[in-house]
Amino acid sequence: MTTISWIGLGNMGGPMSANLVKAGHDVRGFDLNEQAMHEAKAQGVTTCSSIEEVLDGAQVVFTMLPKGEHSRAVYLGDSGVLALAPQDALLIDSSTIDVETAVDLHKTAAEAGFEFVDAPVSGGISGAAAGTLTFMVGGESGAVEKAKQYIEPMAGRIVHTGEAGTGQAAKIVNNMMLFISLEACGEGAVLADRLGLDPQVFWDIASVSSGNSWALQTWYPVPDIVDSSAANNNFKATFSAALAAKDVGLALAAGEQTGVNLPAAELAAQRFQQLVDEGYENLDCSLIAKYAAPDGKI
Ligand code: NAD
Repeated sequence: MTTISWIGLGNMGGPMSANLVKAGHDVRGFDLNEQAMHEAKAQGVTTCSSIEEVLDGAQVVFTMLPKGEHSRAVYLGDSGVLALAPQDALLIDSSTIDVETAVDLHKTAAEAGFEFVDAPVSGGISGAAAGTLTFMVGGESGAVEKAKQYIEPMAGRIVHTGEAGTGQAAKIVNNMMLFISLEACGEGAVLADRLGLDPQVFWDIASVSSGNSWALQTWYPVPDIVDSSAANNNFKATFSAALAAKDVGLALAAGEQTGVNLPAAELAAQRFQQLVDEGYENLDCSLIAKYAAPDGKI
């Protein structure tokens, strides 16, 4: 049994940390959100009231936070992980953040004497609950090898992507492709409906045809077709519009830095920004389907 500290118990961190409890680890958790703490406690996580408290006795520290600024806030500074964690703790950041922040955290952690890996994930909250996430892990081989045993109870696949920051690079490109295909699913769902197709009949065809995708299988934005779709639950977020806007923004920034043209990603970014501007930032990203319908009805 290993003492694992977990910071960020939200939509992903909650079910991921629960799988470490099930694997027999002593999991200590901290989140700024009381509801997230309450739900984690019900799953067997020992909840703590500060970063200092959650790090007590930590052999491994996982963070699952919204953005790069949150990872910086949690790791750096006098009351951050690098200042307060036991010196031999292995640090694993599974948040999706920009490559530059990830590389900075690797460097600062190494200067403070810690092993650190960037280990973002793909698979959504259904994959988090099922323990089937794909982990993209960047960092020194030794640290990545050590991290694998703790990641395993949450993973279907663990890929060492290369040096510091490459996990985030892989994740950013993957999510850009996901959000472009989500836009395609939204447009397809609305067009199929307006052409008079039964939604189940159309989904049954597309899911075994060339229109198939992870977004279609998991997030299809029409109620009562796919169990894991937020459309079944009035678009309560499984992946918020705010986080989708952040992820596509990371891809656009990377495109600018590398001189790559990303017009489809630009369109997806506009869609998510529209949701944010209209006050839907905390609803599910699959709600972008409504922009395909002139009357807003999916
Ligand atoms: P979320 O907003 O549900 O959870 C993030 C949690 O971090 C929140 O509960 C928040 O209170 C907490 N937090 C923020 N700052 C904190 C701090 N300083 N100290 C302690 N807790 C703090 O987000 P999520 O959906 O769980 O996503 C987390 C990360 O995983 C994001 O980077 C996201 O892009 C990525 N991701 C999400 C999904 C998904 O399907 N939701 C899938 C893959 C990756």
